[in-house]
Amino acid sequence: MTDAVPIALAVGGTDSSGGAGLAADLITFGAHGVHGLLVVTAVTAQGPGGVRHRLDLPGESVTAQLEAAAELSPVIVKSGMLATADGASALSGFLARHPALRYVCDPVLAASSGEPLLCDEGIRVLREQLVPRSLVCTPNLAEAAALTGGSPADGARVLADKLLALGARWVVVTGGDQRSGADVHDLLVGTDGTRVLMKHERVETKYDRGTGCTFASALAARIAHGDSMHDAVGAATRFVRLGLRYSYPLSAGYGAPRRWPELAGEPTWRG
Ligand code: PLP
Repeated sequence: MTDAVPIALAVGGTDSSGGAGLAADLITFGAHGVHGLLVVTAVTAQGPGGVRHRLDLPGESVTAQLEAAAELSPVIVKSGMLATADGASALSGFLARHPALRYVCDPVLAASSGEPLLCDEGIRVLREQLVPRSLVCTPNLAEAAALTGGSPADGARVLADKLLALGARWVVVTGGDQRSGADVHDLLVGTDGTRVLMKHERVETKYDRGTGCTFASALAARIAHGDSMHDAVGAATRFVRLGLRYSYPLSAGYGAPRRWPELAGEPTWRG
């Protein structure tokens, strides 16, 4: 036996390729020594060609899974694909019933192949109920624009401020402001006045399936371990960048970042 480990809850869709969605979340939690609970909002059949089939679960199933998971006392909830307005509302109702739960909101709107993963009414629930309830919201530039009714051309700072105004306590806009050639810019802003622009050299790879899921779940895992937001963002960024550097193919032109424990810089268990 070992001591108890932090427990985190991932809410999202399954991706049969194993690259994105709940599989990415739970592998990432495990790499950080965090036990993952999971709530499925949708089952998707996906491969390099995109989404081939999709089954959205009814809101009552999402609610039942959430309440069953809550019995195991997670310290944090991370959401990705919510699929429908019912799925998003089920999560919103759950978070209202559990006010002490910290919440990482990764606003997943579309698959890497372009298919929408949340309907318009669901986006409204995300904007009006879930972003305001979040400890931290982690959009990429396109998601930040879609959520706030802005445009990517507005830039990460303007869009991040709009998300803070909606009620998020912290916002990380990933991959924004790519005008300066090779560099990737990630922006962390907080209601305490924090404004940190992190510039990284781009890691060149085609094997980036599930990168956003990986970042948000690494962030949730580090917060579950007690990191400050600054430290958690730094650790999650390092994990994703290392994962991309050692990313691997699953088929031609399609693959995933590595999400193994050694890249988290921490053993998964202490025996
Ligand atoms: N969740 C599911 C089930 C998905 O299929 C996808 C992308 O297709 C995502 C989340 C988002 O993936 P990413 O981390 O690449 O933004």
